[in-house]
Amino acid sequence: MKISDILKQKKTISFEIFPPKNKSGDISSIYQTIEELSHLNPDFISVTYGAGGSTVGKTVEISSVIKNTYGIESVAHLTCITSSKEDVLKYCNELKEKNVDNILALRGDQPLDSTGEVNSDFAYAKDLSKFIHEAFPDEFCISGACYPEVHQEADCFENDLKALKEKVDAGAEYLITQIFFDNNYYYRLVKEARKIGIDVPILAGVMPALNSQQLLRTAKLCGCTIPYQLSTEIQKFYNHPEAMQEVGINYAVHQIIDLVANGADGIHIYTMNRPEIAKSIFSNIPSILKSYYEQD
Ligand code: FAD
Repeated sequence: MKISDILKQKKTISFEIFPPKNKSGDISSIYQTIEELSHLNPDFISVTYGAGGSTVGKTVEISSVIKNTYGIESVAHLTCITSSKEDVLKYCNELKEKNVDNILALRGDQPLDSTGEVNSDFAYAKDLSKFIHEAFPDEFCISGACYPEVHQEADCFENDLKALKEKVDAGAEYLITQIFFDNNYYYRLVKEARKIGIDVPILAGVMPALNSQQLLRTAKLCGCTIPYQLSTEIQKFYNHPEAMQEVGINYAVHQIIDLVANGADGIHIYTMNRPEIAKSIFSNIPSILKSYYEQD
């Protein structure tokens, strides 16, 4: 089923997982993660795509297990910064064979080990989206990424938003945001997007901040602001991993309550392959999340 069809009926709660990285390429540890996440009845689970390294090719396999073993809709991410049209056709045909109907079409970033020019048939995510729509008319629901605090390569919010409009015009049927810790950035993005005619659902990406070092690294990488309250708590509990985990879960819970109360189109939790964290969030606010599942 296409996620766009689910979104026509309800707001969604979903998870992101990534193919485990290890030298042997063994991904069996992810199956326990999916099993545990499945008990939370998400509307869908998305699987990230690594353009290089041992996880190449695992996205299709994992997306297929989510869909065909657990009966949960899956979204396969795909980046195009190093891809040819043939690569994309092959990937999409594999997804079709496995009945995976949903693709998150991304540009991706230059691989860290690249020494300069990378070869690709696509300049931007919107070109990938357009190509898939043309090659497989009506076969896939395509989504795109968006950035409440502006993509790091964009020169300003307005131009990033214009590019986002082009992405939606090229066929992105819903959007998932980059992580943010200050909900006001999400509300600003939604408000300004609606003003320029971006009318597709914009799902809010929430990442529980579980570990101080990792949080600081991720925030720097994604260019997202750490609000004063969270930064005070990080400083206080920097050397106390268990306390920091409680801080992270609590912070995510409060973010989600606020997002639900303000009518966010969907909540997409970056699980970091830690199902116990998603479980903990769910057990903190079961009625609030239930109200999301059973919308009028
Ligand atoms: P694009 O939409 O192509 O935008 C890239 C930049 O180009 C932006 O600055 C935009 O403003 C600008 N731009 C777009 N169109 C134009 C134009 N016509 N003229 C001028 N400028 C333009 N990375 C992975 O490697 N694997 C993953 O699985 C993955 N999953 C992700 C999931 C989500 C929800 C998010 C938010 C990000 C994910 N990423 C992933 C990271 C993503 O690949 C990077 O953020 C990347 O730098 C941008 O990808 P994009 O698809 O948003 O690019």
